Amino acid sequence: MGSITLKQVTKSFGDVNVIKPLDLEIRDGEFIVFVGPSGCGKSTLLRMIAGLEDTTSGTIEIDNQDATDMPPAQRGLAMVFQSYALYPHMSVRNNIAFPLKQAKVEPAIIEQKIEKAAKMLNLTDYLDRKPGQLSGGQRQRVAIGRAIVRQPSAFLFDEPLSNLDASLRVNMRLEISELHKSLDTTMIYVTHDQVEAMTMADRIAVFNGGIIEQVGTPLELYQKPVNQFVAGFIGSPK
Ligand code: ADP
Ligand code: MG
Repeated sequence: MGSITLKQVTKSFGDVNVIKPLDLEIRDGEFIVFVGPSGCGKSTLLRMIAGLEDTTSGTIEIDNQDATDMPPAQRGLAMVFQSYALYPHMSVRNNIAFPLKQAKVEPAIIEQKIEKAAKMLNLTDYLDRKPGQLSGGQRQRVAIGRAIVRQPSAFLFDEPLSNLDASLRVNMRLEISELHKSLDTTMIYVTHDQVEAMTMADRIAVFNGGIIEQVGTPLELYQKPVNQFVAGFIGSPK
C-alpha cells in the first residue's frame, strides 16, 4: 500500500501550463522529496495527487488503481500543510479526532488512536489545550497527529516546517524522519530547502518550471547531476 504512479500528468490554469507532461513512480514506503524554486509547480502537483486540484490530462494511480478522478476522501492519503490548518476553537484532542468523528469511527477506538498518536508525537500533556496555547512545533505535531490517526497509505507534506525557526526546523526534520521509519509509510515531502531535501530523502525529484529535471538518491544527484540546473540547486561541484 502506498505506491503512486503519475503518467503524462499535466496541469494548466487557463492557457498557462504549470505542469508539463510528467511521469513519476513513487514506491511504496519511500520518502520522496519534491524540491525546486518557488513557483515551479511542486504544490500544484501535490494537490493534484491529493485530489484537491483536478488533472488537466494524464493519469494518477494509487496502489495500481486509477485515482485520477477519485474524490480526495477516497484516496487514502493525508496532507499536512505549512499553515497547520488546525481548528483554533477546538482542543488538540478534538483537532486530532476530527477526521475520525467525520468518518463515524467508534469513540473508544478514536480515544485509543489519539493516545497512540499523542505518545508518538510527545503531545500527551497537551491534549486539552487549544492550538493558540501551543508552540509552532507543537502545532505542526498536532497537524501530523491528525494525519496519522487516519492511517493513510501516504503522507503528503507541503513545506511543513517553513513557519518554524531554524533550530526547531532541524528537530522536526529528525522527528519526521523517525516517524517515517516507525510507520514505514510512503511520504511525499515538498520543500524549497536543499538541506532538508538532502538530509531527509530516499529520493529527490528536482523540479524546474513544471518539469522534473532529475529523480535520484541524494548521492546520485550530488555525484551525477544531469545538468547545470540540478548541480546548482543541489550544490554539487559540476
Ligand atoms: P510551488 O509550490 O513550486 O512554489 P505552485 O505549484 O504553487 O509552485 O505554483 C506553480 C505555478 O502555478 C505558479 O506560477 C502559480 O502562480 C501558478 N498557480 C498555482 N495555483 C494557481 C491557480 N489556482 N490559478 C492560477 N495559477 C496558479
Ligand atoms: Mg508551494
